[in-house]
Order: sequence, then C-alpha cells, then structure tokens
Amino acid sequence: MTTALSKQTIVPITELEQSAFCQTDGNLRTKTLEEEFEAGVRWQKVPTRYLKLAPEEITEGIAFARKEIGEKAVVLAHHYQRDDVFQFADFTGDSYKLSKMAAAAKDAKWIIFCGVHFMAETADILTSPDQNVLLPNMAAGCSMSDMAKPSDLVDCWDELESVLGTADRVIPITYMNSAAAIKAHCGKNGGLVCTSSNADKAFEWAFERGDKILFLPDQHLGRNTGIAMGISPGDMAVWNPHLPMGGLSDAEIRQAKVLLWQGHCSVHTRFTVDQINAARERNPETNIIVHPECTQETVAAADMNGSTEFILNTVAGAPAGSSWGIGTEISMVRRLAANNPDKDVFCLDPVVCPCSTMYRIHPAYLLWVLEGIMAGLAINRIEVEPETRRNALIALERMLEVGG
Ligand code: SF4
Repeated sequence: MTTALSKQTIVPITELEQSAFCQTDGNLRTKTLEEEFEAGVRWQKVPTRYLKLAPEEITEGIAFARKEIGEKAVVLAHHYQRDDVFQFADFTGDSYKLSKMAAAAKDAKWIIFCGVHFMAETADILTSPDQNVLLPNMAAGCSMSDMAKPSDLVDCWDELESVLGTADRVIPITYMNSAAAIKAHCGKNGGLVCTSSNADKAFEWAFERGDKILFLPDQHLGRNTGIAMGISPGDMAVWNPHLPMGGLSDAEIRQAKVLLWQGHCSVHTRFTVDQINAARERNPETNIIVHPECTQETVAAADMNGSTEFILNTVAGAPAGSSWGIGTEISMVRRLAANNPDKDVFCLDPVVCPCSTMYRIHPAYLLWVLEGIMAGLAINRIEVEPETRRNALIALERMLEVGG
C-alpha cells in the first residue's frame, strides 16, 4: 500500500548537479581530469595516472589504443558529447540512431558508448550477450531518466488500476530516455518505447490498442506530441509521482486521454520564449528551431521543432546566409555552427550550459576503458539483467516496428 510518507519529493542528484559546468565566458576547453574534478558533481574514480594527463597526451593515447584494438571495438558518440570525445567516434547520432547502430555492429566485441547510462543499457539490450557494452564513466546518468523511478511506476500502475479497473485500457509509452526497468514495464504491459522522432507514431499505435496513454518520463515531449496531434491540453493531465494518486482526482484520471509523467530535461527547459523574442529582435529573419523536450510555450513560439537529427539535417540543408537560433544542447550547437560556416548558427541561451552528465565523459575515461580492452578487461560493462532485458526488448522492438 502506498503511503503519503513514501511519496516525498526527491530531486535527483543529477538534476541538482545540472548547472555545474555552466559559464558565461563561453570556454568549454577540456582540462585535465584533476582540474575538472573541481566542478561540483560526482565523478567515477579512476586510477590516479589518468588524473594529471594533459588533453594532448590523452588524445595521443586514445589514437594509439584505437589503432591497436582495431575493428574489434566500435565507438559510438551522441551529438551532445564534447569535441575531444566526439572526434574518436566511428558512429555519431541521437539515441535512436545510435541504438540502431549498436544493433547493427554484429562483429564488434566491444561497443564503447560515449553517451549516458540509459543509452548504454539500450545498446546492451539490442546486442548479443557476447558483446560488451562499456560506458566510460558510470556517473554519466540523465536527470530526466532519474525522474522516473521504477518503484514509482509500479505504484502509479496500481493506482491507475484501482481507479479505472477494466473500464479503460492504459497503454504505457516511455521515451527512450528512461531506465531499462521502465522500458521493461512498458514491454510487459502492452506498451512501447518512443523517441522524439517517432513519438507521434507511438501515440497512434497506442490509441489503436487502448483508450489512454501513460507517457513518461518527459511531460514536455508528451504534451508537445499530443498538441501536434490535435489532443486538447485539457485532455492531458500531469501525474506527479511524488503525490498519492499522482495528485489527481479519480474524475481527472478518468477524463484524461494522456497522463503525462512529471519529468523534464534540465537542459532543454532552459530555453524560453524571451530568448526567442530577443533573437528575433536582433534579426527578424532568423529561423528558430528547438527540441520538443522544450516547454510547450517555447515550442509554440519557435518556427520548427524536432529531434537532434532533424535539427542537424534542417540546418545542414538550409541555404547559405540563413540564420538559425537553436534550442538544444550547446556542444551540438557549437559543432553545427563550426560545420556550417556559411550560416549564422547560434544557441538561444546566452549562458554556455552543457548537459552535465554527457559532459562527464571526459576523454581520460575513454582512454581508461580503451586501455582496459588492451589489457583484456571490460571496464564499466553495462549488463541489463535477463528478465528486464527480455521485456525491455519487446518495447524496443515495437518502437523499431513503428519506425522513425
Ligand atoms: S540533454 Fe536532457 S535528456 Fe539528454 S541526457 Fe542530458 S539531461 Fe538527459
């Protein structure tokens, strides 16, 4: 039985640490690991020799290790990784594209995932048990993913059943940015995983099979998707996992077509309508494109919204001389600006604020796991336990069937 006591609001530590690397002088140069340890976040311990290595020594070491290991290892890097890591990737992409790359890398014994924990878990689920998925720094989590605790979802599911009984069939959909146990719950209960590029298709799939959707963990992606599909905001209710019955009355639960888990991305909720207005004041011709993890007001004020791959492709395909104000993670925006010198590409947020968990993949950690491979060691192997793996795979396979 759930009690009010067990529903205390607990802000994930990853959320509290999110602004640790924010700065106004714009300098995101990689320092030694020892210097970066001064940022007020948790870091995984590494052997002391990696602490003092200069960035150039690390780069040389990684290049040497990659050559020695050869094709037995594949390095995957998310778009939000820093340049000093991103440059070593065999494949780059958003979480959806990288999960497909991991599944396709059948010959690689080692898959080094330069991203965050839920991505490495997904890669492990989609690869064979004799492949090793390594996450260079185990402290690279995700604050959004941490906002959906599996035990809270179990409580929520029981509470929904106590109100709805068999009257309404609820289809759970989880965004890719969630723990394997959350994906497993969706797989086991007739639901699926989605990404920011196929959330609308996942909604359609769900409404063909049920009456309501429970969408987690990102309320903003869920709301933006619902609105884009013509669902009225009044038919969507926020489920607060820190309150009994999600903080909703029985009537509100019965009435809602979509229940939105109260989670968010600490990076994308930084983008505001004021920033968009300021960008348009500077240049009325500028195009504003934001990620759907931004709030509904920000998405409504923008010209376009879409996944990181959509943003990347839209800007790359835009005419020379065009101007683009972007609402997504700064490492990707800076790379996009560098790769499109014929366009004016800038981040909407004047503060330089990388995703603090993505940023924790310092290149010294990449060197550490590569040198481990050379010594025959699987450092930081991510292994999802079998039952969770089986059920999460069902939800992921449904996502792949739905397409992107
Ligand atoms: S950008 Fe947001 S959703 Fe993505 S890893 Fe960082 S905190 Fe998580």
